[in-house]
Amino acid sequence: MNVQTQIDAKAAQKTEHFDVVIAGAGISGVGAAYHLTTQMPGTTFVALETQESFGGTWLTHKYPGIRSDSDLHTFGYRFKPWTSAPIATADEIRKYMGDVIAENDLARHIRYRHRIVAANWSNADNLWTIDAERLDTGEMLRFTTHFFWMCQGYYRHAEGYTPEWTDFDKFRGTVIHPQKWPEDLDYKGKRVVVIGSGATAATLVPNIADDVAHVTMLQRSPTYFRTGRNAIEITETLRKLQIDEAWIHEITRKHILYEQDAFTRRTFKDPEGAKKDLLAAVEAYLGPDYDIATHFTPSYRPWRQRIAFIPDGDLFQAIKAGKASVVTDEIDRFTETGILLKSGKTLEADIIVTATGFHLSATGDIAFSIDGKPLDFADTVTYRGMMFTGVPNLVWVFGYFRASWTLRVDLVADFVCRLLKHMKAIGVQKVTPELRPEDHNMPLLPWIDPENFNPGYMMRGMHLLPKRGDKPEWQHNQDYWAEKDEFPAIDLTDKAFVYE
Ligand SMILES: Cc1cc2nc3c(=O)[nH]c(=O)nc-3n(C[C@H](O)[C@H](O)[C@H](O)COP(=O)(O)OP(=O)(O)OC[C@H]3O[C@@H](n4cnc5c(N)ncnc54)[C@H](O)[C@@H]3O)c2cc1C
Repeated sequence: MNVQTQIDAKAAQKTEHFDVVIAGAGISGVGAAYHLTTQMPGTTFVALETQESFGGTWLTHKYPGIRSDSDLHTFGYRFKPWTSAPIATADEIRKYMGDVIAENDLARHIRYRHRIVAANWSNADNLWTIDAERLDTGEMLRFTTHFFWMCQGYYRHAEGYTPEWTDFDKFRGTVIHPQKWPEDLDYKGKRVVVIGSGATAATLVPNIADDVAHVTMLQRSPTYFRTGRNAIEITETLRKLQIDEAWIHEITRKHILYEQDAFTRRTFKDPEGAKKDLLAAVEAYLGPDYDIATHFTPSYRPWRQRIAFIPDGDLFQAIKAGKASVVTDEIDRFTETGILLKSGKTLEADIIVTATGFHLSATGDIAFSIDGKPLDFADTVTYRGMMFTGVPNLVWVFGYFRASWTLRVDLVADFVCRLLKHMKAIGVQKVTPELRPEDHNMPLLPWIDPENFNPGYMMRGMHLLPKRGDKPEWQHNQDYWAEKDEFPAIDLTDKAFVYE
């Protein structure tokens, strides 16, 4: 018996039907559930989540200091005010999500420890059949639904990405990936090397610096950071004036988005000026004698990779205090006691943390098929980074990298609810994005232009992602400022939507 037949045999025992099935209960899945409840009351739906609780990213990551790198006014939902400091810990984010769940009675819609393994669209029935494994009992369950709302994030939660290094297995100390941080890890007085210099490394280093003997951030190449107070002036002023929190949330969001948009545009128009300002902020902490050229000056233009925010310059303060240091070099090989670098220098370590990124998993490791024929998303073209040519009744949430991910959760949700209402109004069961006659000669390009944005996990997994066209309808443009007006104006009668 093959895997599908086994699933069929076991799943046939129990099938439930919902109008909508949501994959995942991270910030996207909980947002989807909220919007369905409020914008489409009476819709039956279930959110299936692999993990034992809600939170997604904020549940998976448990390393010391885990926090957001964007502000919570925009990483939070537009409908629920954020009332604390803008950069938040994972616990604070989960508490906020927990409040959204409790205040809107969403818990009854979420099933934890349910991993979706397969999804098949049937053109005869106009239904998705979704098979999920219950991880606590091993039982296979089957769901049918008209609409599949993929809120599965973009990376594999079960394991992080670790490159292949020479003699990695020879190292006798402890090796940890931040995605699997053991909560009882004793790092007091230990020599720690953190490999990587993304947001995770930049958070981890200052948060363990006081306890370890020394922590070294080992990077192959430098990264840009933004730094400043973990506070927003306009928000503080409005609070002093005792303005209503809902207003403060809205005004702060508008303020942040305006500033971010201006900065992003500047990185394209005046990359050298933007770079100078970013580096000046780092120098203000580290002083003129620190080798900023080697350790904090990337060769690429700002914003080609996500720029993490360092609240109160804590990373730079740990370096200045001598508790942490940065080494910019390449790994030659591992030894029993540490790392030999290409420069010939060695780094001795008791613990090595591989903050080396994610495995891209844009479809939640779900085996997709249409009428039983395997579906490869790389063969499709995306409609605005949320739907796919030839794939009926499915939307996925892929947020922003330069702005907060959640801004798109709200935008996509408004679109889904509008689309579902439209389908009901015109009495159809099925909507499939298709290229229009005028799109047929359109060049098909990779999901993201590497000249524009090129983090490692995207580059490693690009071949698995859907294609993009060169027209606004057929790409995820990563531009919230444009999409906030474009999405509500999407013409649902456009020929890109084929209804049956
Ligand atoms: C450490 C860290 C910090 C970050 N900080 C920020 C930030 O400050 N600002 C920002 O905009 N972005 C940030 N990001 C990016 C962040 O992941 C997203 O912004 C956001 O949390 C994604 O939410 P999500 O719900 O779409 O996906 P996730 O948080 O990845 O949640 C997806 C959920 O779907 C579940 N799932 C996946 N596949 C299946 C399946 N087959 N069956 C059932 N369930 C499934 C997963 O278990 C998971 O719980 C950060 C990422 C990391 C790793």
